[in-house]
Amino acid sequence: MKSPLRMAKEQDLQTIGLSTVADDLLKPRLLTQLGRLRGSMRSLAVMLDTCVKCGNCVEQCHSYLGTGDPLNAPPARADLMRKLYRRHFTLPGKLFGRLAGAKDLDSEMLDNWLTYFYQCNECRRCAVFCPFGIDTAEVTIAGRHLLSELGIVPRFMQQVALNLQKTGNNMGIPAPALLDCVEFIESEIEEETGVAVKIPVDRPDSEILYIPSSADFFTNVDTIVGAAKMFHMLGVRWTVASAMLEAANFGFLFHLSAMQDHSLRMRRAAEQLGASLVVQGECGHGWRAARMVTEAASGPVPFELTHILDFTARHLERLSLRKLPLRVALHDPCNYVRAGDLVEQPRRILRACVEHLVELQPNREETFCCGGGSGILMEEMMEIRMKLGKKKAEQIQAAGRIDYLAAPCSICKAQLPHVMNHYAVPEVAIGGIMDLVGKAIDLTSSTGGSGA
Ligand code: SF4
Ligand code: SF4
Repeated sequence: MKSPLRMAKEQDLQTIGLSTVADDLLKPRLLTQLGRLRGSMRSLAVMLDTCVKCGNCVEQCHSYLGTGDPLNAPPARADLMRKLYRRHFTLPGKLFGRLAGAKDLDSEMLDNWLTYFYQCNECRRCAVFCPFGIDTAEVTIAGRHLLSELGIVPRFMQQVALNLQKTGNNMGIPAPALLDCVEFIESEIEEETGVAVKIPVDRPDSEILYIPSSADFFTNVDTIVGAAKMFHMLGVRWTVASAMLEAANFGFLFHLSAMQDHSLRMRRAAEQLGASLVVQGECGHGWRAARMVTEAASGPVPFELTHILDFTARHLERLSLRKLPLRVALHDPCNYVRAGDLVEQPRRILRACVEHLVELQPNREETFCCGGGSGILMEEMMEIRMKLGKKKAEQIQAAGRIDYLAAPCSICKAQLPHVMNHYAVPEVAIGGIMDLVGKAIDLTSSTGGSGA
C-alpha cells in the first residue's frame, strides 16, 4: 500500500536543517545512519536481534487489528528494518543473505518503511505482551528518524518543526496573539468565578514554569483554565514562557535531533525564568520525550521536572474541590501508562472531582491507543486513523452511558471525536482532566493569588 502522506519538498526541508539525498547516495547514507543509531540507541540492536516470532504481540496491536494488514503486525513491522540490519550488521546476514532473513535496500523497502512506520502509533502495547519486552515503538522511532535523514519527511511534521523554531509552539501562534488569548481566558475566568486569576507570561523569578500544549490556548481552553485555577489556589509563583509554549515534542516523532532541540529550548526557558520546577501539561508523547531526553540532551538540569497530573495529585488536599455529578470514563494515554508513570494519579484526581469514575476495559498499561498517537493527525491520514481507532471505539462503546470522556493528552483530544463519530459511539463531551479540576475547584475559598 502506498502511503497517503504528503511529503515536504526540498526547500521546505532546508528550513529545518534537513535535505533530500540523491538516489545513488541513499544506501550509503542510510547504512551510516543506521550504524550510528545502533551505537547511540542501545536498545535498538537488542530489539532487532531478539524476536523469536512467537506471535504473542500480534493480536495486541490495534494497528494490525484495525487495518488487517499483515505488515502492521509488530514483528513484521520490525522486520522491515531487521532485514536490512541483518544484511549489513550481522555475520549470518552478510554470509547467507535471504537464508538468514536478510535483504538489501530497494525502493520497495523504502516505500514500506514510509507506509508502515507511519501506521504505528508508537504506543508500546506490543512490548507489554512480548516475553522479551521487544518494543516495536523503538524500531518505529528509529525508522522515522532514518527516513528523515534521507529527506523523507511528512509535510505536517516539517511545518510543525518550523512553527516551533519561529514561535516556540507547534501551532505557530505569534506572541501578540498569545497575549490576546491569555487576556481573554483571564477575563472569562473572572466573569465565571468573580475571582481575578492570572496566567503570567514570562514572569521572572518564577518558581514553576508551566509548559502546556499550545492547543490549550485555542482548542482545549478548559485545560489551561483548570491549570490556572489550580496554581492560583495553591498560591504558587508560576508562569508560562512565550519562547517555550509547547509540551508536544514532535521531534520525538520524526527526527531525534529535532527532539533534542525542543528539549534544549525548554531548558533555556526554565533557566531564563529561574524556575526550579518545570511542569509539563497534558501531552502524552511530550511527557515521554521530556522524561527521556531532558538530561540526555544537555546534561544535568537545574530544575525538577514533573507532569501537571502528578503535581495536581500531590496537592489534592490543598485544593477545595466539589464532586461534579458526572459519570466520567478515563482513557489512559499510552505514553502515560506505558512510558510515563502516570497511572494512579489521574484516577486520584478524578475520584476527587467527579461522583463516578468509569474504567474502560482494558485499562492502565493495557489500554488501547486512540489511533492518533505519534503525531499522525494529518488530514490525509484520516482513513487510516479511523482504522487505528477501532479498538478504542469498541472500548468506549462497551463502557455504557458516560457523560464525559477524560482524555488528558492533546493528540487524544484531537483524535477521539473523529473516532467516536466514525463508529457512531453516542456523543459525549471529551476533554482533559485539568478541565474537570477547573470546574470542580471552589475559588472562593482560595487563599492563593498566583504567588504574586
Ligand atoms: S507500538 Fe503499538 S502500533 Fe506500534 S507495533 Fe506496537 S502495538 Fe502496534
Ligand atoms: S512477542 Fe516479541 S518475540 Fe514474539 S513475535 Fe512479538 S516481538 Fe517477536
